[in-house]
Amino acid sequence: MPEAPKRFKKRDDKFGAGRRRRVCSFCSDKQGYIDYKEINRLRRYLSDRAKIEPRRKTGTCAQHQREVTAALKRARQMALLPYAPQHQG
Ligand SMILES: [Zn+2]
Repeated sequence: MPEAPKRFKKRDDKFGAGRRRRVCSFCSDKQGYIDYKEINRLRRYLSDRAKIEPRRKTGTCAQHQREVTAALKRARQMALLPYAPQHQG
């Protein structure tokens, strides 16, 4: 009996190297909403230049990326997260 074809081989070759394939961390969470006060969690979605990381980098799904963005902007207004990188010296 022939072996079943490895269907996702090609895709893994393309995306697997360098960047890990990740599932949206908010989908696997049953909280249901994103709290703007959880800055330790939200900080991971900011780059070192304090910019919001794109979906292709963080692996967040479209729905949650929108919510993350809204939460981040809310957190910025509350001065919990920066708009721009911190001054050096
Ligand atoms: Zn999600």
